[in-house]
Amino acid sequence: MKLPELLAPAGNLDRLHTAYAFGADAVYLAGQRFSLRKHADNCSLDEIRSATAIARKMGKKIYITMNILAHECDMAALPEWLAHMEDIQPDALIIADAGIFAAARKQTTIPLHISTQASVLNSRSSQFWIDQGASRIILGREVSIAECAHLFETTGIDIEIFVHGSMCASHSGKCVISSYTAGRDSNRGGCMHSCRYQFGIENNEQEIIQQTPLMNAQDLMGISLLPDIQQAGIASLKVEGRMKNDLYLANTLSCYRAALDALATKESAPIHQLEEQLHTVSNRTLGAGFLQERSTGVNTAFEGYQAQIKFLGKVRHSTAGTIVVEWKDGAVPGDAIRILTPDGNYHDSTLPAITNLHGETVERSRPNSIGFLKLDIPQGSVIARHLLEESA
Ligand code: SF4
Repeated sequence: MKLPELLAPAGNLDRLHTAYAFGADAVYLAGQRFSLRKHADNCSLDEIRSATAIARKMGKKIYITMNILAHECDMAALPEWLAHMEDIQPDALIIADAGIFAAARKQTTIPLHISTQASVLNSRSSQFWIDQGASRIILGREVSIAECAHLFETTGIDIEIFVHGSMCASHSGKCVISSYTAGRDSNRGGCMHSCRYQFGIENNEQEIIQQTPLMNAQDLMGISLLPDIQQAGIASLKVEGRMKNDLYLANTLSCYRAALDALATKESAPIHQLEEQLHTVSNRTLGAGFLQERSTGVNTAFEGYQAQIKFLGKVRHSTAGTIVVEWKDGAVPGDAIRILTPDGNYHDSTLPAITNLHGETVERSRPNSIGFLKLDIPQGSVIARHLLEESA
């Protein structure tokens, strides 16, 4: 049985390196046109070209998202964008809109994946897109593994599903809440997660009697279901989160890589331990979403994001026991830290003395600056700060 591909978000070129280093087989990233997540660091054409060259060199895959539901005014720029894509030749374009699909089919030779935004939930709908020339269907997040198995048996198409990350309280983005609350169109990259707000429930006198995040979807975590997912013939497992940081990527991908590698060798993965590790980075409580028959995924008792560790910095260079760190947060020597290395392991330690670019010892790391530490860990490692010990 084929091992599913591990597919990671890459908000920018830097996170693309992190994703590949920590075990992704493929990444998806967005250009500056036609993509959802308008407020992510979407890539320029030159960056997409570079990213594709990096993927080729590493023997990995790269998919470019073009998954808005387009209005007429979006379409004028489409032929030029598609011509650029044809020239760059990523491994696939991810498309939701039938008009964009038809244009891409006509104008490019690139394989086309149907985005989850197209809300494909059944075999007839899948067959429709197969007949149009789609080579993969990214199913709606509302489909269970059992439904995926039936769909694969019926159509034989490459199926991709979401396995980890944020869920949407609507049918995969078919939502206008952000349009109402902020004038931002979710289907053109403007979602501001308005569904996660507290909503007031009024009595007949229009007095608010309760405040509750009544549409607050839990985050998805499907790691314990990987054997069933493989059995169902699913080709690709997508981790959500193009706007999330290197720590989220390193931590999430390490866990799923370990679980998939164990599946490949028929060993049993330490799932409980991996689930605990997945809980350490910021999340809105984790659950299996719709992967099992009935979702229990709305958490109306939500009291805020949970996290045990926070992104502190990334190792830019490592030589002879000294590392160069790009700081993303402030920390002081002696702080409890966790170091995640690209071999998928982590270890806990304390932050040693920090020197700056001038060789001076500093009392605290400054976000977006460079520091030197006496540590022997590889380039690309990610450093996090423990939050629990800080508040203890
Ligand atoms: S506001 Fe919520 S329900 Fe609407 S698209 Fe965004 S995440 Fe989905």
